Amino acid sequence: MFDLTGKTALVTGGSRGLGRAIALAFARQGADVAVNYRGNAEAADAVVAEAVGLGRRAVAVQGDTSEGREACEAIVKAAIDELGSVDILVNNAGITRDNLLVRMDADEWEAVIDTNLGGPFWMTRAIARPMMKARSGRIINMSSAAGRMGNPGQANYAAAKAGLIGLTKTTARELASRGVTCNAIAPGLIETDLTSDLPQAATDALTGMTPLGYIGSVEDVAAAAVYFASDEARYVTGQVLGVDGGIVMGS
Ligand code: NAD
Repeated sequence: MFDLTGKTALVTGGSRGLGRAIALAFARQGADVAVNYRGNAEAADAVVAEAVGLGRRAVAVQGDTSEGREACEAIVKAAIDELGSVDILVNNAGITRDNLLVRMDADEWEAVIDTNLGGPFWMTRAIARPMMKARSGRIINMSSAAGRMGNPGQANYAAAKAGLIGLTKTTARELASRGVTCNAIAPGLIETDLTSDLPQAATDALTGMTPLGYIGSVEDVAAAAVYFASDEARYVTGQVLGVDGGIVMGS
């Protein structure tokens, strides 16, 4: 089940956290991987070395997905040049710049919108034609429970992650006839560097609201990405899967 042998994947922000776990889960399932990173070449190289240790082809691809069209096209081109194709794209790179709405400044708003929504848009735009031509492909967007339910202090982040759900559904509709699916994962609170400096009170409050009552692991999210990437998920598109301990129960 969920064998990815012979597939190629590009994971943005793949040097740590959820992106790293997804890249390595793909490699364990047989996929070759391109690990996009912005600044930490050493961490990206370590992920590449682990994937190579699993017997896969793997490459690190530097690039800042928040920089728009040219930067994203260059990342996609480098991955295709190295691996021959990109069958699976995971738009995982994301940041937070939390502040209350009335205190949020333009830099905080724009950085999060450009990274968490602009990045996935330009990456998807860059990969769409090659995937349409191949008549197959998987695009997986990393949304968030915050995008489905809102979160105080995260107007920028929740707006971007909600926007990403709209992008997911539109991409799914536009590319379906070419055999390309697009789905989103909406994690709840997952233990990574992104969440490690949350105040204990905020972590406790979120855990308290989570029916399963604990923080998720990166493997919980990686398993969902493996499923969406698989042949078994061929009839699933435009969906948002909460990997969130039940904090959001959508219909
Ligand atoms: P993280 O901070 O550990 O990792 C994010 C990675 O993305 C980092 O390696 C970072 O360098 C990279 N990145 C950031 N901006 C980039 C850019 N412009 N170009 C290229 N790479 C860039 O965070 P994480 O917890 O692993 O989060 C991964 C994704 O999951 C994010 O989109 C985040 O919003 C989402 N998410 C995380 C949680 C959680 O609880 N951890 C919950 C919901 C959603």
